[in-house]
Amino acid sequence: MSGAVGAFPGLAAMKRRTIRGAVNVLDKATVVSIYPKAIHEKKCTLQPGTFDIPAGSFDNPSVLIVGPSSWWRDIDEEQPLLEIPVASIVVADSVVKDYSNGIFGCDMADQQPGLFYVPGAKMDTKGNPLVADTIKWVKSDFKAELELARQRQHNWYMFLVKAADSLWARSNGNPLAVSDDMRMAAKELNVTANKDWMRDFQMVDMVRCKACGSLKNPQFPICASCHFPDPDHPMTKQLLALKNDMSPLQLGGNTPPQQK
Ligand SMILES: [Zn+2]
Repeated sequence: MSGAVGAFPGLAAMKRRTIRGAVNVLDKATVVSIYPKAIHEKKCTLQPGTFDIPAGSFDNPSVLIVGPSSWWRDIDEEQPLLEIPVASIVVADSVVKDYSNGIFGCDMADQQPGLFYVPGAKMDTKGNPLVADTIKWVKSDFKAELELARQRQHNWYMFLVKAADSLWARSNGNPLAVSDDMRMAAKELNVTANKDWMRDFQMVDMVRCKACGSLKNPQFPICASCHFPDPDHPMTKQLLALKNDMSPLQLGGNTPPQQK
């Protein structure tokens, strides 16, 4: 038996080469992305099986034109591999769904990354895909689909920002609790200014108070636990001078805050 383990590969092995049959050049589908990240999808059982979609936006969507792919059915070791062709629209569906499925916050319905696909693409007379023309065609003929993708992506962003707020609060401001997708969502929704978790990581590094030893934010001169002014902070001198200038009335009846 030539197919036995360790046997010399004979003519039977030659029969098992994967040679694709004729490909229908008109079978094209277009994956459209308004997602601000480039996507690299690899499907190791499909041929061709690598799919690269550049980053896109609502005003400038990016596209990937896909044709049909094939996979190979292994009937038994003595027989040649059987080619199973897959239509381009099924390939496009797989690229979009396999990427989105399982991403945190994506429910595969109203909340997902801005990816979708349409049947067909713009091609020249020889069947070569024309990317610029396809983008123009998608923008003019698929306005409703683009709008829907934007709405779904917006919903997903909203969920991610809400989740980041909650994780940030629960972890007492641990920057590792907030994922890159959440930071991307905050940037896309333009809410970076009022989110503490979007600031530089350095800012949230706590230091020990010199007086009481509890953790305090080095950005502020007064310790929250013991109210001791930090002697190294550049604002401390100014703050103490300001306090001396104030009348007892302005300081709230001159009674120091009571510690409990
Ligand atoms: Zn203190």
